[in-house]
Amino acid sequence: MSNHQRGKLYVISGPSGTGKGTICKELTARGAMDISISMTTRNPRPGEVDGKDYFFVTHEEFEKAIAEGKMLEYANVFDNIYGTPKEAVIQRLERGRNVILEIDVQGGLQVKQSMPEAVLIFILPPSLAVLRERLVGRQTDTPEVIEKRLAEAINEIKLLGEYDYYVVNDVLEDAVNDVKGIVAAEARRVPDKVKPIIGKYEREKGE
Ligand code: 5GP
Repeated sequence: MSNHQRGKLYVISGPSGTGKGTICKELTARGAMDISISMTTRNPRPGEVDGKDYFFVTHEEFEKAIAEGKMLEYANVFDNIYGTPKEAVIQRLERGRNVILEIDVQGGLQVKQSMPEAVLIFILPPSLAVLRERLVGRQTDTPEVIEKRLAEAINEIKLLGEYDYYVVNDVLEDAVNDVKGIVAAEARRVPDKVKPIIGKYEREKGE
């Protein structure tokens, strides 16, 4: 039997442009947690590396992975499919590592269904105006795509109630500290198995 506890699965979601990616990079810095590398059918952006930022695959390859039951979750986001390869996540959790999934809300809800013990954190922008500024500033999307992302942001925010925690990313450092606080609190949650363990000692004492 392994002598370590199973790792915890964290889902980080929120509209694109809220800084989830940057927050996740901070959380995984110095090997504190592992981030899952998603699979996507979208084209790589300049500077993105296959196997590091995403596994970039064709629609056919993605469909095959779904059919073979290899995806923990998947969803259509902005006309492309994105999903989490299951095996790498499960292996890491079993090794006791905490794993982060940076995925959209549809995916987050699927994870909650199949792994109810997952901790879901929603990252909010301080306002839609700030979100728009950030999307324009990162210069990766056309104005048309930015409008689509803003409309999508409202739809995602409407599902906030399905999440366990929220963090507003106004000042990055504060947002990172908020998420670290959630992770620290979760690490101190009394696990379900503690009750049977206490019961065992109580029974022993009574004998
Ligand atoms: P981007 O194209 O900007 O990299 O990502 C677009 C959206 O897809 C983001 O909201 C991101 O969280 C989401 N996304 C990335 N990977 C996954 C994944 O594996 N599953 C799901 N459901 N969404 C993902």
